[in-house]
Amino acid sequence: MTDISTQLIHHPYRPPEGFEAMAPGVHKASTVFFPNVQALRTQEWMDKSGYTYGLHGTPTTFTLEERIATLEGGRFCVLAPSGLSALTLVDMAFLRAGDQVLLPDNAYGPGKAFAVKELAQWGIAHAFYDPLNPADLAARIGPSTRLVWIEAPGSITLEFPDMPALVGVVRQANAGRERPVVTALDNTWGAGLAFNAFDLGVDVSMQALTKYPSGGADVLMGSVVTRDESLHRDVLLAHMRLGLGVGANDAELVLRGLGSMALRYAAQDTATRELAAWAQTQPGVECVLHPALPGSPGHDAWRRDARAAACLFSVVFQDHIPQARIDAFLDALQCFRLGWSWAGPISLCAPYDVAAIRTRTWPHRGGLVRFAVGLEAVADLKADLLQAWPNLGA
Ligand SMILES: *Cc1c(COP(=O)(O)O)cnc(C)c1O
Repeated sequence: MTDISTQLIHHPYRPPEGFEAMAPGVHKASTVFFPNVQALRTQEWMDKSGYTYGLHGTPTTFTLEERIATLEGGRFCVLAPSGLSALTLVDMAFLRAGDQVLLPDNAYGPGKAFAVKELAQWGIAHAFYDPLNPADLAARIGPSTRLVWIEAPGSITLEFPDMPALVGVVRQANAGRERPVVTALDNTWGAGLAFNAFDLGVDVSMQALTKYPSGGADVLMGSVVTRDESLHRDVLLAHMRLGLGVGANDAELVLRGLGSMALRYAAQDTATRELAAWAQTQPGVECVLHPALPGSPGHDAWRRDARAAACLFSVVFQDHIPQARIDAFLDALQCFRLGWSWAGPISLCAPYDVAAIRTRTWPHRGGLVRFAVGLEAVADLKADLLQAWPNLGA
C-alpha cells in the first residue's frame, strides 16, 4: 500500500471483537473510568496508548489523529475545533512575551488578525515578509524571532513560495541559536496530497480539516502535525492548557471524508485547471491566479515541489470594470454560490479587496474574485460563468 489514497482507506483501526465493519466507532466521553486508584494516579494523559479524560482523546479522535499524521507523512497529530484554532494553537505553543512571529504578507487573514490584534497585546511582535523573496525573510529574522509561518500558496492571491528556500533561510538563522526558530506551514491547500511538507523541510504542518479532509462543507476542525517529538510536546501541552477538544461526531464526519479525499482532490484539480485556463481567455480579465498556470506567481516553485493543485483560482479583472459590475456578475451566478470556505461539493465564489488586506503594494488595481470549484460537472460550471459574464460589461 504505497499510495496515500489506499492508505487512507485501509487504516489500522481495530473494531470490537466480532464486529468487523468498515467504519470506526463513534466513542463519546468526558469521564473515562479507571480500574483502581493506582491506575488513576499513574495513567499519563500525554501517553496516547491509554485514555484519561474525553478532552485528551477518545478512540475516535485518536484514530483520526493517526490518519491525519499518516496523510501528511508526519508522526504526531493534535486536533483542534477549527482550522483557525489549530493555527492559533501553533502560535500559543511556541510564542512567549518578547518573541516575534513572521508571517507571509499573503497569509490567511484571520491568522494575521490574531497576530495584530491578540499576540501584540501579549507582548509578542509580528512582521510580514514577502513570500516570493527569501532574502526579505532573511532580512526580517532577528534575535527575538521564534516562529515563521509559511503558506503555500498564499490565501486569495495564490502565489506559490519557494518553500525549501524559505526553510533554508530559517536553518541558516538557526545556526548557533539556543531557541531555534520554528517553521510552521498552513498546509490546508496542499492537504497532504499536493506535496509532503516535512520532506520540504517545515517543522509543523497545520491544516483546516474543514476543507479537503471533511469535504462536506458541514464540519469545522483543524490539525497540527509534527515529526519532531519535542515540538509535538509543546503543541500538546498548549492544547491541553487551552482546553481544546473536538466532538466525536465531527471526528467521524472527517474520518468518513478521508476515504474519498484523494479522488475529490484530483477531480477538483482537473476541473479547476480547465476553468482557470478558460477564464484567461475571457473579456475583461487582467490575469488569472493559479499556481499551475504558467506565469502565475510562483509557478516554477509549484512545478518543482508539488504534484497537484487544489480547487482554487482567482480572477483579477481589468481596472476599468467597476466593482458594481463585478458584484452583478457574482449575483447572476447560479452554480457558484456566494460564501466562504472551499473544498466542498458546491462551487463557491467571493470578491476580495486585496489592496486593503496587504501591507505591500499589490500590483493590480482591478477587482479580484476567488473561485472555489466544487464537484459539479465542469461543463455546467463553465456554462454558469458564461451566462453571468455579460454582467461585467467587458
Ligand atoms: C479555511 C482556512 C483556515 C481556517 O479554517 P476554519 O476551519 O475555517 O477555521 C485556515 N487557513 C486556510 C488557508 C484556510 O483556507
